[in-house]
Amino acid sequence: MYYESTRGNYKTIKSVDVIKMGIAPDGGLFVPEKIIELNSGVIEKMSDMSYCQRASVILEPFLSDYTQEELKECIINAYNLEKFDTEEITPVHKLDETVYMLELWHGPTCAFKDMALQILPQLLVKAMQKTNEKKEIVILVATSGDTGKAALEGFRDVEGTRVIVFYPYKGVSQIQEMQMVTQEGNNVFPIAVKGNFDDAQSGVKMILTDKELNKTMNEKGFSFSSANSINWGRLVPQVVYYFSAYADMIKNKWIEPGEEVNITVPTGNFGNILAAFYAMKMGLPVKKLICASNENNVLTEFINTGIYNRNRPFKKTMSPSMDILISSNLERLLYELTEHNSQLINQWMGKLSGYGNYEIDNGTKSKVKEIFWADFCSEEDTLATISDTYKKYGYLIDTHTAVGLNVYRKYREATKDDTKTIVASTASPFKFNKSVSMAVLNAGDIEGKNEFELLDELSRKTSVPIPKSLRDLRNKEIRHKRICEKTEMKLQVKMVLGL
Ligand SMILES: *Cc1c(COP(=O)(O)O)cnc(C)c1O
Repeated sequence: MYYESTRGNYKTIKSVDVIKMGIAPDGGLFVPEKIIELNSGVIEKMSDMSYCQRASVILEPFLSDYTQEELKECIINAYNLEKFDTEEITPVHKLDETVYMLELWHGPTCAFKDMALQILPQLLVKAMQKTNEKKEIVILVATSGDTGKAALEGFRDVEGTRVIVFYPYKGVSQIQEMQMVTQEGNNVFPIAVKGNFDDAQSGVKMILTDKELNKTMNEKGFSFSSANSINWGRLVPQVVYYFSAYADMIKNKWIEPGEEVNITVPTGNFGNILAAFYAMKMGLPVKKLICASNENNVLTEFINTGIYNRNRPFKKTMSPSMDILISSNLERLLYELTEHNSQLINQWMGKLSGYGNYEIDNGTKSKVKEIFWADFCSEEDTLATISDTYKKYGYLIDTHTAVGLNVYRKYREATKDDTKTIVASTASPFKFNKSVSMAVLNAGDIEGKNEFELLDELSRKTSVPIPKSLRDLRNKEIRHKRICEKTEMKLQVKMVLGL
């Protein structure tokens, strides 16, 4: 399979090069030239397969430069019982007759980012060997909290790579910060930026496409790549678990083969829900994709009106991994929906970077509305959803997942559609335990406790065990202390690389 840039000013390239490059030099994102459709027989057969076998079926056509054996090795190294705490890798939990929670947080950092970031380093190392790449790959990451840790963990001590992570200073939870500043490994550099996630992401995009810096890097034997969901290698592993969930639902006789389902995704950068869109394009029977936002509801407005407008206050919410005003992967969706019209994409993205807003044409608007339904969830409702879900089902969910579930309820209410629905559960409740505790514990149990003490309290009161990696975190040594201004990100990169 070959890949092209959404901006139309770069040659088509092979999958190994897509994985290596991360972002297209013309500022666009790589997408497959065309999508393969699986027939329903293949999907049905997946119900008898393991997660790794399902991953092979989905990844093979997209990563066609890799041999079957190479891919298998990457998959097995990523999704195994050393890294994940359940053999199913992404188990589906039936909440009631219509709602099915797809638990994507059983990996080493307790959020769904592990699903991609455990396999991306494997794919990258293979890509380097296969293309005879001698340069050291420098992975640049902007994170609102979860991607950073997952990238540091996925790439730690991976030969021929160095990973630099920028996260918003005071903009991540205590647990997320501890996860990053205690990171072990000899090639890992977490750096706090005095700004928000959008500042960090814009800074990283600028560094990645900085011609002069890239030239210096080249001369010194370095080459940039990205582990953000702008990298196709992040997206394609995420397509797998939607098929896997569907296959599990067939296996458990919750649905008939071929039966349509809805998929609800708590959304920030539009990566996870875009993977669901690609699954749908590949033939997964999906009725509606339900896009759930928190109070940073740019996408809700976009899906409902066709106007994308980032000119609004940035809100810090209790679902920080979705505190985003520029959802990068939307560019890929628009490219697909306009039948690969890079002229339109350039026009819209130009307006977005120039004025902070753009409006899509009516034809594209109606396509968006046909596929997606969108709403958002307030802070108050996020807590209420966690609390209600715990009371009603004894099932604990994190703040991001609560946003998803709340918006699904709104969809159900508004449309009366009772199609069975997969809700992406994107983080362990213990990862955002401060808010989760506020929702399910008494004020007296919380008062005066830090996030680590709350872990114990939450676990004690709910009898749900704390994931091991979070339990052991408080005793780890702090190894990283870098802080910088948002104007100094490039300088920091140069310092890390000794340029
Ligand atoms: C990253 C993240 C999201 C948002 O996913 P996108 O792919 O950026 O839309 C939602 N929930 C959690 C827990 C996350 O870490």
